[in-house]
Amino acid sequence: MTDSYDVVVVGCGGAGAATTWWLARNGFRVLAIDRFDAHHTRGSSHGRERIVRLAYGDPVYVALAQESLRMWHELDASVDATLVRTVGGVDTGFSDELEQVARGCDWARVPYEWLDPDAARRAFPGLHFDGRALLQRDAGCVDAHFALDAFEQSAVADGAVIHRSETVTGISEQPASVAVTTDRGSYRGDSVVVTTGAWAAATIDGLAPLPPITVTREQVAFFRPRRAMSFPTFIDRRATSYYGLPTPTGLLKIGEHYTGPVVDPETYSADVEPRTWRRLLDWVRHNVPGVEPEPVDHSTCLYASGPDEDFVVDRQGRVTVGVGLGGHGFKFLPILGRRLAEIATGTPWTDNPFRFERGPRLAARSLHK
Ligand SMILES: Cc1cc2nc3c(=O)[nH]c(=O)nc-3n(C[C@H](O)[C@H](O)[C@H](O)COP(=O)(O)OP(=O)(O)OC[C@H]3O[C@@H](n4cnc5c(N)ncnc54)[C@H](O)[C@@H]3O)c2cc1C
Repeated sequence: MTDSYDVVVVGCGGAGAATTWWLARNGFRVLAIDRFDAHHTRGSSHGRERIVRLAYGDPVYVALAQESLRMWHELDASVDATLVRTVGGVDTGFSDELEQVARGCDWARVPYEWLDPDAARRAFPGLHFDGRALLQRDAGCVDAHFALDAFEQSAVADGAVIHRSETVTGISEQPASVAVTTDRGSYRGDSVVVTTGAWAAATIDGLAPLPPITVTREQVAFFRPRRAMSFPTFIDRRATSYYGLPTPTGLLKIGEHYTGPVVDPETYSADVEPRTWRRLLDWVRHNVPGVEPEPVDHSTCLYASGPDEDFVVDRQGRVTVGVGLGGHGFKFLPILGRRLAEIATGTPWTDNPFRFERGPRLAARSLHK
């Protein structure tokens, strides 16, 4: 007997968990299926920390980030764990990019301050500043681990069903429904949401006009502060962009943005890539004097990015797609979850900027983190 649902969510990582959360809280019968167990480390949503910020150079993302941050704080207030830590965010680097970020903030009336290098050093002695910095005080860190738990536990409490360690092997549209086949059974939904991240191309496979999704393996390092001091989230925007944020365990997570090799999500190795690793440690030695230079830990994670670093959120027939979140999607999960749930249940996103067919909006790669 094939179980039937209003919506079947394929891939219950960050985007899938947020979509399942929004569907269940609005009374829809939802099944979410993921091939790995909870908190697996093969995709893009594992670990304990992600930057959440408003300061983007693109008004589309500023508006989405404002809505999402409001929803993160709401979710945070509804659970025991601390999901959001507000620590402020500084942007440094190429002046034209900083100006662009300032314009994005001005557009949305997001307050920010310019700090000259001396003022920046006084505010954040653990960081090196060789130019002015843009400080936005609402920025902070989301605890990715507890955020996924919050989405899933709230969804299950609202009646959602979540299957783990079950691989979807086929999705086919029927006249009045969608059939989803797995290595353990088959299910039917009035519609399906595909949020399979790095595996998007394999799972969508002609069901919708998916733009090319590039999968890169990114690596990060964790450093111990030399002494107790406050660190903001930070992004240094140059030819190679670096970012960092304080972890819930008192370390500093630092990484290069979008410099990893293109990999196959099925077969990639989680080993550190020596050349970029050395470059990262070298950058930290010169730019983050507040930490011990030798990292105490590292991890790898996948970016699955669309051709222009914009997300892919759209529907074709009964198939809704939410992929291409790249290296900056986690902060948007609550709002993307809501939009994907609405699109899958018949409420279109009128000014959706992430359609399958869309023109380029902003060229610069390092603008999105
Ligand atoms: C190193 C790093 C740092 C980052 N830092 C930030 C940050 O500071 N701020 C920020 O906003 N964002 C950040 N991001 C980006 C963010 O983490 C991702 O955009 C987001 O987690 C993507 O979520 P997802 O749901 O698309 O992918 P995933 O969480 O990978 O979910 C895809 C799921 O699909 C499942 N799946 C695939 N195929 C199948 C199948 N056939 N059957 C069943 N299940 C299947 C997989 O098991 C997986 O769980 C960072 C990403 C990385 C890698």
